[in-house]
Amino acid sequence: MRVAIAGGGIGGLVLARALAQRGIEADVYEQAGEHREIGAAVALSANGVRELERLGLADGLAQISMTPSSLCIRRGVDGALICREPIGEDDTYRTAFGAPFYGVHRVPLLKLLADGVDPGRMHLGHRVVDVGREGRLGFADGSDVSADVVVAADGVHSVLRRGLGFDNRAVFSATVGYRGLVPVNQLASLPEPTALQFWVGPGAHLLHYAIDGGTTINFLAVVRAGEWTGEGWMQACDPAESAQRFAGWHPAVCEMVGAVSTSARWALHAHVPLDRWHQGRVVLLGDAAHAMLPHQGQGANQTIEDAVALAVHLSVADADPESLDAAFTRYHRQRRARTTRVQAYSRRVVRLTHAGPEGFATRDRAFADVPAALAWIHGHDASAAAEAYVL
Ligand code: FAD
Repeated sequence: MRVAIAGGGIGGLVLARALAQRGIEADVYEQAGEHREIGAAVALSANGVRELERLGLADGLAQISMTPSSLCIRRGVDGALICREPIGEDDTYRTAFGAPFYGVHRVPLLKLLADGVDPGRMHLGHRVVDVGREGRLGFADGSDVSADVVVAADGVHSVLRRGLGFDNRAVFSATVGYRGLVPVNQLASLPEPTALQFWVGPGAHLLHYAIDGGTTINFLAVVRAGEWTGEGWMQACDPAESAQRFAGWHPAVCEMVGAVSTSARWALHAHVPLDRWHQGRVVLLGDAAHAMLPHQGQGANQTIEDAVALAVHLSVADADPESLDAAFTRYHRQRRARTTRVQAYSRRVVRLTHAGPEGFATRDRAFADVPAALAWIHGHDASAAAEAYVL
């Protein structure tokens, strides 16, 4: 079976490695000339890490990642703790969910993933501009390739998703995000800098965790916004804009959003769930299939789950159209319910974290037992689920 993967991001690279582990070689076509930073850092929960460890990446991942000491949810204005759960300071998280939780810079993560892909099959500088459901990819330089299976792993603005005529509607969440990387030594007021922390308050929240051995804090600040009128989903903006939105919050929050010298405003959208993820020989994966709001930190983790599940489904298929149709249908059936539920849960988290005074009691009750609330997400074993599905 010849597989061509459009997009060498997290999903495309994990799929290439998962397929190779099952004896299926795949070519990866990535538009960028090198693995660049998209989204600065990423939090990998046990459901994603478990799968990367199975691909032989446990040591490499541990070397480039940092485990947060705890998960804290604090009131944004005064920093009072709503809840605090250990993550890295003892074995509670790893024992409960079967793998560690990591914060990791994206560039070393992509390099780690790419290192295991046969260099002869990694095609950088290949921008896909056209796709055919018979298994054809057309590139910006006029060349094209054909394969038995084409995987659209080209992210939230997928050319393949649009090219195949899928419903491309994305719902604006009425929130925008500002993100940044700040040296920890500029954050004198930050309590427990090694923790993954949510600071929550009416109409806004800020999430951060440490990367690069604890020397850098990666943050995402999210505020309500009435509507989004921009062309794309990101606009450059004055860093003072986010500082103004968090004026009056705890000094640690003000220091963090005030420390960045350039800033961008990200419109946070989620795709409408699709009834099918394939057309002919082409199948969607990751953000191309189900872009979600980042409030659960699950976009990349669900993408990793998709990739290992798709590898299992393809490993029991033949290259003929009927067999592939059956494999893609099983993959979609297995993954759609879960990814749609995570999408919905991400929307719920922002409702809770942004609650006004009338919602504080509900919010605090909901966050009282975080491990129980996360169990169905972080405890999931996607490749075992796929194996059980194909039996
Ligand atoms: P991507 O990672 O976007 O990769 C797509 C790849 O395709 C890219 O390399 C791109 O260059 C390439 N490509 C695009 N178009 C073409 C083309 N035409 N031809 C060839 N190549 C192409 N998720 C988490 O799980 N945890 C987090 O903490 C987290 N934080 C986030 C913070 C921010 C600010 C954002 C924006 C997202 C965050 N996410 C997080 C979501 C996560 O980044 C995505 O869900 C994940 O990267 C999706 O993987 P993917 O492989 O589908 O797409």
